[in-house]
Amino acid sequence: MGIFDRTKKLDRQISSFSMNQKKIVCPFCGHDKFEYREILLNTPGMTFLGFDWANRSASVLICTDCSRIEWFFNQPTFL
Ligand SMILES: [Zn+2]
Repeated sequence: MGIFDRTKKLDRQISSFSMNQKKIVCPFCGHDKFEYREILLNTPGMTFLGFDWANRSASVLICTDCSRIEWFFNQPTFL
């Protein structure tokens, strides 16, 4: 159940990341290592948002320290 069932497990890895040349750090604890996952957005629960998201995926970064989740529509750069 839930959108995380759609996680492509092969994409899972831990790294530091940047977006637009700015390093991503956890806004809660300041940690800079995240577990990376891609989440498909074309799930029934997301269609109410009204976007044409068929076959799109979002990048999800999970802080390896405090487990806070950050979502990015575009893929962050692996550092
Ligand atoms: Zn954190």
